[in-house]
Amino acid sequence: MKKPVLVSACLAGIHCSYNGSSNTTQSIVEMVRRGEAVPFCPEVHGGLPTPRPPCEKTDDGRVVDNTGADRTEQFRRGAEEGLKLAKLLGCEEAVLKARSPSCGKDVIYDGTFSSTRVPGNGVFAELLLENGIRVRTEEVPPSK
Ligand code: SF4
Repeated sequence: MKKPVLVSACLAGIHCSYNGSSNTTQSIVEMVRRGEAVPFCPEVHGGLPTPRPPCEKTDDGRVVDNTGADRTEQFRRGAEEGLKLAKLLGCEEAVLKARSPSCGKDVIYDGTFSSTRVPGNGVFAELLLENGIRVRTEEVPPSK
């Protein structure tokens, strides 16, 4: 049996984004409907409320919100919970939300809340990659 793909819950239409909205992506919704994907939100599972202040990853690896509060622990906890779920399900691949401080891959914001993009991965994406799980964002088509 094919293993399910772990997907950012906000891409599946769940209203778990920092501002209380979703980032609904129809192709991801269809994957969940067909039983091919399982939605997960690391920030919510890390104990943060929805809505919540926007967060960014800083260049020293911490995560702060736009009030200056350090949210590194919640981000790490949520990422660990997601890795646990991925292992339980045997996921080999994840499709995550581009540029999120948790879910982004290859490009994230720089921690200054100035819309400046820098190379890097979100906390959850990084942990999945470290554990051998392939990660792409919803903006990158699946490889053939
Ligand atoms: S942490 Fe990931 S799944 Fe949760 S709202 Fe942000 S981008 Fe979506």
